[in-house]
Amino acid sequence: MTVDALLSNSKQLSPDEVEWQLIIDAIDPAIRSAVADMVENHAAASVEVFYSTLLTHPEATPFLSNQIVNDHLHSALLRWLQSLFSATAPDLAQLIATQRRIGLVHARMRVPMHVVMHGARLLKNTLRKLLFEIFLTPADLSTAIDYIENMMDLAIEMMSREFVRDLQKEIETDEAYRLVTLGQDVTLEREVQRAALLDWGHKILLAICCNAPPPLPSLESSGFGLWLNHKGSLLFPNTMGIEHIRTSMRRIDRVLIPALSAQVPPDTARIHELQAQIEEIRFLMDDLFKESEALESGRDPLTSTLNRRFLPTIMAREVAQSLRREVPFSILMIDIDHFKSINDRYGHTGGDAVLRGVAEKLISSCRTSDFIFRYGGEEFLIALVETDIKRAFQVAEHIRENVTHILTQPTGSSFSVTVSIGVATFDGHPDYTHLIEDADRALYYAKAEGRNRSVIATDALASLPQLQ
Ligand code: GH3
Ligand code: MG
Ligand code: MG
Repeated sequence: MTVDALLSNSKQLSPDEVEWQLIIDAIDPAIRSAVADMVENHAAASVEVFYSTLLTHPEATPFLSNQIVNDHLHSALLRWLQSLFSATAPDLAQLIATQRRIGLVHARMRVPMHVVMHGARLLKNTLRKLLFEIFLTPADLSTAIDYIENMMDLAIEMMSREFVRDLQKEIETDEAYRLVTLGQDVTLEREVQRAALLDWGHKILLAICCNAPPPLPSLESSGFGLWLNHKGSLLFPNTMGIEHIRTSMRRIDRVLIPALSAQVPPDTARIHELQAQIEEIRFLMDDLFKESEALESGRDPLTSTLNRRFLPTIMAREVAQSLRREVPFSILMIDIDHFKSINDRYGHTGGDAVLRGVAEKLISSCRTSDFIFRYGGEEFLIALVETDIKRAFQVAEHIRENVTHILTQPTGSSFSVTVSIGVATFDGHPDYTHLIEDADRALYYAKAEGRNRSVIATDALASLPQLQ
């Protein structure tokens, strides 16, 4: 089937799905089935070859030498090969989702793309050799080789796309961070743009009311519009807010203003809509700036701890450093106990004061080289650099005792606040989310065991095997 036929036959297929479908359609089902059998019978041996050869690649060793990766990779690679070369037609959406997920894991682990390609080349070579044993006619052999190459290449292409997208996101975040910290006065910028938007709003209303001859000045070409399209998108990359502002701006320029300038006297309902759209833009812009103000210092405005946005960059960096320098690295996942009831009792403002108090204790209990993040509402994550599990547990207990002594009196009464802490140490797994999951599990266990305690991840696992 051709691309056009595929696209018109099934409006549901995405361009990526069409690519897969074309490769699958091009292969005789009997050959596909023979390839599937071959993969089923020889995949384990191919994975062995892949693994032992890749281990000699100096840039691959840091990722493969970890036992957990080793165990996991063997079965994951087997499953990947089997799903790619299944006898029955694969679920395309699922196939694509799998490649994207793998690309994201590679990005988090910072596995260089050329190492992935090197691995794929090894696998292709091994499978190609096997094909020579099962296909006797040159025509079948050539079809089968094409099939294997195309399927693997497309899978790797999809992985790389996701890999690059993820890294790109990070680069843009860094860039935004750099721009705002390089002396851009964000507060001043917001005031100037607010004034520019209002100024345009007044001018356009005046022009409409005075029946000024068309064309009326568009918002997009106003000072505000120019700023938004050029500087705004640099300051706020990847934000939905900017897209919403653009949509409102387009509606004003393409629908409302032409309608208003075509009607004398102007329709009051449309004038109200124009004002509402301008107000909406102002509101969205304020939101963008609020986020950016927090970004300016990289800190959460309430607690002054680090913004979670920087967690991936810092965790990936610390994990890479621990791997390279063979130094320990631990994290604490901290959650305030029964925080909801503190809010219920003392209101949101009282709750905020407790959050600030706890954060101060966290900051004073750690070294300046540690990273303290606001992880969620009343959750914090601390990255303790060059710290082993024993020391990390001591820090956790120190924090817990310090926090327990806080006495806050929003309504004159005094009470103590407690926290539960999950402690985990870097075990060599290059994907930092693995470490966070360990700490999370330990925290879950600390809560289940009655709160106000610190629990080490490995102890939690030993006590709660069903959590594994
Ligand atoms: P647990 O001991 O199991 O952790 O119970 P909890 O009540 O602390 O946990 P839960 O997740 O049920 O409630 C967390 C509450 O934290 C809910 C949410 O309203 C509140 N919260 C989240 N962010 C903020 C904030 O910035 N300020 C205030 N005051 N409250 C917040
Ligand atoms: Mg919580
Ligand atoms: Mg809580």
